[in-house]
Amino acid sequence: MSEQIGELLPPPRLMLTPGPSCVDPRVYRALATPLVGHLDPWFTTMMDDVQVLLRRVFRTENRLTFPISASGSGGIEAAVVNPLEEGDEAIVCINGWFSERMAIIAERTAAKVHRIEAPYGRPVDPEDVRRVGRGKKVKFVGLAHGETSTGVIQRLDDYRKVADELGALLVVDAVATLAGVPLDVDRQRIDICFSGAQKAISAPPGTAPITVNARTEEVLRGRKSKVQSWYFDLTTTMNYWGKERTYHHTPPVSLIFALREALRLVLEEGLEARWERHRHNQQALVAGLEAMGLEFFVPNPADRLITVTAVRVPKGIEDLKVRRQLLDEFNIEIAGGFGPIKGQIWRVGLMGFSSQFNNVLLFLAAFEKVLLDQGFHVSAGAGVAAAVRASLKPQSVAIGERK
Ligand SMILES: *Cc1c(COP(=O)(O)O)cnc(C)c1O
Repeated sequence: MSEQIGELLPPPRLMLTPGPSCVDPRVYRALATPLVGHLDPWFTTMMDDVQVLLRRVFRTENRLTFPISASGSGGIEAAVVNPLEEGDEAIVCINGWFSERMAIIAERTAAKVHRIEAPYGRPVDPEDVRRVGRGKKVKFVGLAHGETSTGVIQRLDDYRKVADELGALLVVDAVATLAGVPLDVDRQRIDICFSGAQKAISAPPGTAPITVNARTEEVLRGRKSKVQSWYFDLTTTMNYWGKERTYHHTPPVSLIFALREALRLVLEEGLEARWERHRHNQQALVAGLEAMGLEFFVPNPADRLITVTAVRVPKGIEDLKVRRQLLDEFNIEIAGGFGPIKGQIWRVGLMGFSSQFNNVLLFLAAFEKVLLDQGFHVSAGAGVAAAVRASLKPQSVAIGERK
């Protein structure tokens, strides 16, 4: 090699994307923990800790709760291929890219899949699920709790009710919501729930926590055929994460160390306090964007996902130029839209360690500057001022409002 490949020195980015989110320094430190073997008794004890922490974060007593060695999409894969086999019928609620992915994976199984679609920016109507499922032997109702591609949240209890009527398992993609938005696996009776480490949990990407209840375990034991995927077969992976601790595959040891520390941070803060922090910062962001004259992609405020806010790109403004300038000038990364809404929306993520009020203020100030440079008329400071006002405690009085 004629030229030397230099040291790794990434720019100090602020990731305000729908993942990966920024990571607490304590998690980086855990990531650098010296390796031990994955069958070492010390490591297997540490695995118990991770499972205890995950159960607390998912709010479940489920035995089968552990991190899959994969990104969030591996969570979808495991949640879909384990319960479904030949002769089954499944309903997948689609309102964006990730719920679509669940349908695409389901269609690769031998099961019959019914797609129920909602326009982008809206939740799927539970009534449509009821109507399509009526008279059928539906085994599986799957949906995304938070659809990250459009910034929509769906009310799980409504789908649980329909799944109960149909006698189906409720399968929930909580990749964008776990540890950022209220979610209670046992109380909401979710049969299979999975997430991704790099979103509101704020660990590095590469593990997908999953939890499966006793009813689902029963379904898995009753399968007539083998799970089509060897790697994602929960019944065998569980022998490693279960009592036996027998070798299945080598897990990403360092990522599990990091996940453990991230989960400890979640519980130190407290789930309720964390949900409230996410809500508070998103409200400040929304107030700021609104004051800047921007429009939201999700029309109904009650449907807006707290962890990802989707804003419309104003007419005459180029999506990519804005994102490029934010990155080059301010080291801030936000996301665009993909699929049918490419170029039409920006998605601002406030997840986990990234969800901080100072990040909201910095982003709004930088965004105003960039939009002004790109020719969008906004009165400078309007966004920041509105965010500050929105964040004040009820008893505080802002300067200028004093009587
Ligand atoms: C990010 C995301 C995924 C995919 O996760 P990867 O880690 O990119 O594989 C799936 N579902 C939802 C809702 C997501 O936000």
